[in-house]
Amino acid sequence: MEADWSARLRLSWQERFAESPGVLKSPQHLQTLVPVLDFVIGGDEFITMAGPCSVETEHQLLATAHHVRQEGARILRGGAFKPRSSPYAFQGHGLDGLKMLDLARRATGLAIVTEVMSENDVPLVAEYADILQIGSRSMENYTLLEAAARSGRPILLKRGMVATIADLLRSAQVILDNGNPHVILCERGIRTFETATRNTFDVAAIALIKQIAHLPIIADPSHAAGHRDLVPAFARIGVAAGADGLIVEVHPDPDRAWSDGDQSLTFAEFDEMMDSLDPYLELRSSGRPRPAQRFALEAVG
Ligand code: PEP
Ligand code: MN
Repeated sequence: MEADWSARLRLSWQERFAESPGVLKSPQHLQTLVPVLDFVIGGDEFITMAGPCSVETEHQLLATAHHVRQEGARILRGGAFKPRSSPYAFQGHGLDGLKMLDLARRATGLAIVTEVMSENDVPLVAEYADILQIGSRSMENYTLLEAAARSGRPILLKRGMVATIADLLRSAQVILDNGNPHVILCERGIRTFETATRNTFDVAAIALIKQIAHLPIIADPSHAAGHRDLVPAFARIGVAAGADGLIVEVHPDPDRAWSDGDQSLTFAEFDEMMDSLDPYLELRSSGRPRPAQRFALEAVG
């Protein structure tokens, strides 16, 4: 009886998302594991990606990288090519930013995730990044998705701010169809009539996607919240919804950040947030690396 019901449920989702069949779970394919350096995304370990919104200076990036690694982050985030709402805002350091990310990887052993905005930049960004980020504003740029897919690097695909779940899954399908199975989805909030938070954090999408799709999905509480005070609560909600990881903005001096300072955590706030996730992560099969494992990571760097 129960099995019948769940089979019917699965069928109805399959019909609804019929344009992205490769993304949906099947008995043969329940979960994609995305390998990055010496760990995987989508497995038992909750993966934290943390770092500044933009790569600004060597000091800013290295200080942040060393700090977040101590708290169990596996991946350093930071934009070298920045899509900004204002054409007059800082657009990123480009190649110089990628070189700073590379330096930070060599100094800490953290993997690097960074955005690529144009298909022309894919070969360059793929040379430096362990994961290519497709930003919210680019989610439906299929030419970019195809080029990014063909680089062979794992892709962090952020949900467009006005994209439905079906739109997000279609974009993931484009990447799969271009020969790249390593897609990580990201819920970063969508535009609704509510404007108190920067975006509306659609955690229901995380729960739904965990149920129907085999791709890992991570939560971005920073761009959802827009205010740093709300980020830790949003992160906990993301964990409770079943996210496989987190991407969060952290800055040594958020009030002086060149982009997204309002939503960036200080180091102390990041530590506090990570500690506050522990009871939620305990409910999963395993949490972030324990102190002993973190010590082993230190030895690598
Ligand atoms: C970012 O990660 O800094 C960013 C620009 O995110 P989004 O594409 O979700 O707005
Ligand atoms: Mn940002």
